[in-house]
Amino acid sequence: MDNLGRYDAIVLGAGVVGASTAWHLAQAGLSVALVDAEGPAAAASGASDGAVSVASKKPGPLARLATASLVYTRALAETGPLAQAYHPRPSYIFGTGPDETAAMDALIAKLDALGDAVRLRRDGGAGVLPGTGPGVERLLELTGEGHMPGYAAVAGYLSDPRIARIWPARVLGLDETDGSVTVNLGHQRLSAPRVIAALGTATPVLFPGLPVLPRAGQLFVTDRGQPGALPGALTSAAYLLAKTTNPAVLPRPPVVIDPLTTGQYLVGSTREDHADPTRVDFATLQQLMIRAAETWPALRARRVIRAFAGVRAAVSDSLPIVGLAPGSARITLATGFEGDGICLSAVIGREVARMATGMAPAADLLADLATLSPARFPSLQESVA
Ligand SMILES: Cc1cc2nc3c(=O)[nH]c(=O)nc-3n(C[C@H](O)[C@H](O)[C@H](O)COP(=O)(O)OP(=O)(O)OC[C@H]3O[C@@H](n4cnc5c(N)ncnc54)[C@H](O)[C@@H]3O)c2cc1C
Repeated sequence: MDNLGRYDAIVLGAGVVGASTAWHLAQAGLSVALVDAEGPAAAASGASDGAVSVASKKPGPLARLATASLVYTRALAETGPLAQAYHPRPSYIFGTGPDETAAMDALIAKLDALGDAVRLRRDGGAGVLPGTGPGVERLLELTGEGHMPGYAAVAGYLSDPRIARIWPARVLGLDETDGSVTVNLGHQRLSAPRVIAALGTATPVLFPGLPVLPRAGQLFVTDRGQPGALPGALTSAAYLLAKTTNPAVLPRPPVVIDPLTTGQYLVGSTREDHADPTRVDFATLQQLMIRAAETWPALRARRVIRAFAGVRAAVSDSLPIVGLAPGSARITLATGFEGDGICLSAVIGREVARMATGMAPAADLLADLATLSPARFPSLQESVA
């Protein structure tokens, strides 16, 4: 006997990506341990908006993967683990001025090319949604998208009792031999033939050199009112521009106003290049509040009851990192989801579980998943070799 906890698979990080991956591995009949330094949804997944949005994704692989994930999320919400987490609602994209109008035209073309998962229902002026303010010149109404708080999605995936939960337990190191990977937790060691590292911003601590950078975001939540006044999320077209342009040169800061089922509004979020989830400042939030109230004046009658920040894991080329870790045959990385991880988590968890068990990815996603491979950073492969 030794004191090694043995599993078929070990997932590191109990954010939404790790939890989804653990759930899919358990569904495949594997014994799975899910390890977290603090607990479930302790980092970005517990401090984010939860837009499951195709509209906001950069055209190309991310938009196609988001579409697949939206469709799969809806299926998992019907009778599966996301039943209490995901709820469908319309989404509204608004804009002012030539840059935002052009971004909205590009969005319509992108959605047409992606099939019918998300449809344009109306394209008009402020009259599309009574109650909007003077900051809204053009407004699109989309159907098909929804909202899913990250912590609720994690709770849904953890409803599978076969997942062994190991927290608080910080991974201090990984040792890969011919047949297995040993996970060093200090007081305890675990071993499995396959390990999935879904560590968000902490990825470079265990995998030095990976270009994962912190990008913080502040949000605020209002008190409760009558639910339904705003039927769906109101997102500025500046958000679409932020995906392709340096946010520092945007004409107006992006804002998303998401009505929660509780009758509260969740309003976010900034993009700041630091890693401190405790940094919440009034000047920045005031800008967000002014912008939100210009867009949805009913917000002026609400009180802000909580402000908080989360830290996204961004990658230098703005694509997530999914695939075998450089120089490894047994450790799969799933990180760098920036502002898209809640939306992508269903499909990424499913596909990472397939990769880790040696199955081919879904045929229609093969090429897009290949673009996320860590092998796209050749200097990293050389430095590890
Ligand atoms: C302000 C803000 C708004 C956002 N809005 C949206 C949105 O509307 N839609 C959307 O799709 N996405 C959104 N996101 C992005 C989304 O929240 C993230 O992409 C997603 O939560 C990432 O999940 P993850 O599982 O990869 O990482 P995380 O949730 O960061 O999980 C990583 C986990 O690893 C653990 N960990 C770290 N180091 C160790 C270690 N050494 N040992 C053990 N465990 C460790 C941490 O404790 C943590 O629980 C937003 C993010 C922010 C910050």
